Amino acid sequence: MPSFREIVTPETLIRPEIRALHAYHVPSSSDMIKLDAMENPYLLPTELRDELARVIADAQINRYPDAGAQRLKQRISSVAGLPAGVEVLLGNGSDEIIQLLALAVAKPGAVLLSVEPSFVMYKMIAAFTGMEYVGVPLAEDFSLDLPATLDAIARHRPALVFLAYPNNPTGNLFDADAVRQIILASPGLVVVDEAYYAFASASFLPSLQQYENLLVMRTFSKLGMAGLRLGFLAGSRIWLEQLEKLRLPYNVGVLPQLVAEMLLAHHDVLLRQAEQIKSDRSWLYERLVGTVGVYAYPSEANFILFRVAHATRVFEGLKQRGVLIKNLNGGHPALADCLRVTVGTPEQNEQFMAALQASIHQTI
Ligand code: PMP
Repeated sequence: MPSFREIVTPETLIRPEIRALHAYHVPSSSDMIKLDAMENPYLLPTELRDELARVIADAQINRYPDAGAQRLKQRISSVAGLPAGVEVLLGNGSDEIIQLLALAVAKPGAVLLSVEPSFVMYKMIAAFTGMEYVGVPLAEDFSLDLPATLDAIARHRPALVFLAYPNNPTGNLFDADAVRQIILASPGLVVVDEAYYAFASASFLPSLQQYENLLVMRTFSKLGMAGLRLGFLAGSRIWLEQLEKLRLPYNVGVLPQLVAEMLLAHHDVLLRQAEQIKSDRSWLYERLVGTVGVYAYPSEANFILFRVAHATRVFEGLKQRGVLIKNLNGGHPALADCLRVTVGTPEQNEQFMAALQASIHQTI
């Protein structure tokens, strides 16, 4: 006798909050000047690329990676200057670490709190892991609204707070004292996400030992290694040993481990590129500020947020001229008519500015 069952569909099987999500959109960028994703625009110097080729040639890709990645972790501790007693957990990009943290605390009803607008993955990962999400609006100038944030913390008792420092997509560093008050007032963990640390003038790494509920997360994506997928979380062993249980054993492959280890031995080269990007950021900011019809926000990251009338038309005009940036218009209401441009090479920045002026002109 054949047995019958009801046809299974995504509507009956997939959790409604997942069906309601939109997948993280990565636009196609072939043949365009790519200034949409905060990548470092520079290739490595030839000597380093040659060294890389040798490292890869000798890599034992028939073996699983070192699950503990001890050598890489030591190198990270030393280049980041981690205080004694501070340990490191590695992620396949820092996105994966956000997910690990959420998975670890996602008891029924547990809350993940962040500010808005900020990095969209905090909210998405709260949905992936079944956490409640609370987004506290930033002030109009994108600084922290401290009374509103403290009030939301008191009301929602979040298990996890994420603060991007500098913030994406606004580019600013929040007031450090306000961040400290949030750490002190939080009943759960506070993760300061320093994805853009290489371009910023301040860090919470030196404060790690002062607060038992503080963790600092960084990524190497913006420092020229976006393709490797490597991020880390720094903090006390009591937290990291719990998170380690959720980390899939071989989440950082043999090649990313070896390549990152080698590149971090040349951290000075990467930091020099970051310095160049910082100085080009000043150039780009001045040019944006001097452009009629553009309001640019100061940035401590490798991108600049700016507001312009008819942003979507300007964005399309840039695309027609071969320049891809990020259109934030239509997302969060505080980002109406906002666009975000990653700092590129000096030539790319010039090409972007010329294309922007032509696109603005076209929309008038
Ligand atoms: N945090 C912030 C604030 C970001 O902007 C990004 C990347 N856009 C990430 C984390 C994730 O970076 P990755 O997964 O490449 O390490």
